[in-house]
Amino acid sequence: MAAPLRGIAIAMAVFFALGAVVNLPAGRVLTGGACAAGTLAGLAAWAMVRRGASLQWSASLSFYAMALVVTALLWAGNGTRDYGLAGYPAVLFLGCVFLATAAYWGLAACVLVAVTLIAVAEINGLKPVPGPPTDFRALFNLWLIMGASAVGGRVLMQAVRSALTREQNLSGALKTSQERLSKLLSTSPNAIVVSRFSDGTYLEVNDAFLAMFGYTREEVVGRTSLQLGVWESAHERERFIAPLRDGEALRDFETRQRRKNGDWIELSLSAEHMDLDGVECLLISATDISARRAAERRAEFLSTRDALTGLPNRVLALDRLQQAMARARLSGGHVAVLHVDLDRFKAINDAVGRAQGDAVLRETCARLEHLLKEGDTLARIGGNEFLVVTPLAGQAEAKALGEAMLSAIDVPYDAGGRPLRVTTCIGVSLFPEDSPDAETLLLCADTAVHEAKAEGRARVCLYANVMGERVQDRLLVESSLRDSLTGGGLTLAYQPKFDVRSRTITGVEALARWNHAKLGSVPPSVFIAIAEESDLICDLGHWVLKEACAQIAQWRELGLPALPIAVNLSARQITPTLPAQLFSCARDRGVAPDMLELEVTETMLIARPESSRKVLEQVTRHGNRIVLDDFGVGYSSMAYVKLLHLNGIKIDRSFVADVVADRHDRAIVSAIVGLAHGLGLKVVAEGVETEDQLDALEELGCDEAQGFLLCRPISGERLASDILERGVGRR
Ligand code: C2E
Ligand code: MG
Ligand code: MG
Repeated sequence: MAAPLRGIAIAMAVFFALGAVVNLPAGRVLTGGACAAGTLAGLAAWAMVRRGASLQWSASLSFYAMALVVTALLWAGNGTRDYGLAGYPAVLFLGCVFLATAAYWGLAACVLVAVTLIAVAEINGLKPVPGPPTDFRALFNLWLIMGASAVGGRVLMQAVRSALTREQNLSGALKTSQERLSKLLSTSPNAIVVSRFSDGTYLEVNDAFLAMFGYTREEVVGRTSLQLGVWESAHERERFIAPLRDGEALRDFETRQRRKNGDWIELSLSAEHMDLDGVECLLISATDISARRAAERRAEFLSTRDALTGLPNRVLALDRLQQAMARARLSGGHVAVLHVDLDRFKAINDAVGRAQGDAVLRETCARLEHLLKEGDTLARIGGNEFLVVTPLAGQAEAKALGEAMLSAIDVPYDAGGRPLRVTTCIGVSLFPEDSPDAETLLLCADTAVHEAKAEGRARVCLYANVMGERVQDRLLVESSLRDSLTGGGLTLAYQPKFDVRSRTITGVEALARWNHAKLGSVPPSVFIAIAEESDLICDLGHWVLKEACAQIAQWRELGLPALPIAVNLSARQITPTLPAQLFSCARDRGVAPDMLELEVTETMLIARPESSRKVLEQVTRHGNRIVLDDFGVGYSSMAYVKLLHLNGIKIDRSFVADVVADRHDRAIVSAIVGLAHGLGLKVVAEGVETEDQLDALEELGCDEAQGFLLCRPISGERLASDILERGVGRR
């Protein structure tokens, strides 16, 4: 209904505007002015209909405006033409009113009264213009115009009436579809809103909306979302409405809105445009995603948290460090990273049990947290490793904090009624002094903690600049070594082991050698240590195994006597995949298992005794022999020796070095030999450099010896030509 009404109001305005244009320049000010007023009335009616004003209101406004024009013309009496001019729009206008109010006959009477008034005025000379109405042509014209107006009005009325009927049918249909819509609204589980696009006024909401937001319908309909305060901010509403301005629909806009009681509710909004009674509206559907978001947040929390303590994990700690660094950059401050590593925690866990171990870790968190200020981050980045990120004034303060932490941890713990002492090492790195990069700062703190451990337990070590070079070197060595593993540069040297009494070769030890194009010859003490810090050692270890098997096969092809090769294993290699790896390396070269011996160290076994035991048991069952390397420098626990089904032990060269001069070392070697023999193990002494040492070892009952005195590590070819060709016999 609004569209044809708007059209008629515009037609009225245009018509009066024409009247004004004709009359004003001709000096008929009053008529022109009245027409101008009629124009304004038409425009006002148009505007009112457009803004959704009731038809009665707009019709009344127009009616009064028209009455004003007619009265003005009657009063002014500017001549017959003017009456005609006035009469025609009067009829047209009353047609509008008729259309608007559907009061057909009453308004038709109005038309009649108005026309009659004009005629009577003309005939009786009521107009101020003197003289009787002698101008019959003008009178004829007037009646002609009035007649034409009446007919025109009648035709218009009929046209409008049929239009109205159509409109009514249409609105009937619309009513049905509106009923359907409201049914849909009432049954939808989602909150649904119909709001005016221009200002966001709620025109319709469903029950689900009212339940979701806690309002009554009266409180909502007719008000805007901003008035209700559902949006977090006007900016957030703008973010929602902006894409809709292009006429597009919007899907899954995630936001949060305020309920009547002030609580927040997380929503996913979808919106599309719709025309409701000629008014441009938005049909908005809101799904409550609070539960889903809460689950997502929980998952996110767990992915960034340590399950035992609820502390941030390494990922989150890194993020917090980056944020702290960004703030420090602006303020010119410093940020310290403290890497706290509890000493020998594995042994503690084994001693007091896992539950007590967890309690100690939680207690440690509490003690550390007690020393931190608001905004600092305490994270757990490993079983017994914590990280603290704290903005502070500089090195001295960082060191003081580290020492306070040492003291806090030094206080004995209560392990089920027994006092338990835990010591720790702390490595500290500082931003911006040590690095502008967060990852590198963590690496620096890690390096510092290793340094602290190397210096002895229970201490704080600040990452010094000189260590920076070490890190740089380390990264370079690591990447170069990775390249060499595939591109060449690595070789194996073989150092023979001899039977102490017969002085014949019993086997060789494979030792990795690395000659890099740029770095030159890098000693194993350097590159093995660096490889140990990552999984690179596993790749290296695998390469050594394949190479050693290839060497055995090559010697066999040369027709040389079979000589077992011992390879050094890293702790990281002792995983459940090791037996399969060994098996496939040996099978590929047709090597018998007893030709491959494995050298393991105690420290690697202590870290994971149970899992290591299982893996090594499988390995020995398969036929490979296992020797405990560097015996005497670690925990020297015969318990492990027994547990691991070893075949032999290698006495560390530090004991061999002083076996002649130091009677304690002599006694230790003697004891080790006695114990080992008692367990049925062979004893190898490594690092034999003098004849005296060899004699002493023979006297103490050692079975085999290895050292520079007997033979330095040499290449496979040299070993073949120098020794093997002379037979596996005396050196
Ligand atoms: P290790 O297994 O105890 O190897 C013996 C080390 O002592 C070798 O040093 C050898 O050259 C050295 N040596 C032998 N006889 C004497 C002697 O009479 N006097 C002295 N002072 N030293 C002697 P190298 O080759 O530098 O290896 C050092 C360590 O690097 C090895 O100690 C082993 O732990 C590790 N390593 C070497 N190759 C490998 C490898 O392929 N894999 C793994 N995981 N570690 C390896
Ligand atoms: Mg060794
Ligand atoms: Mg050794």
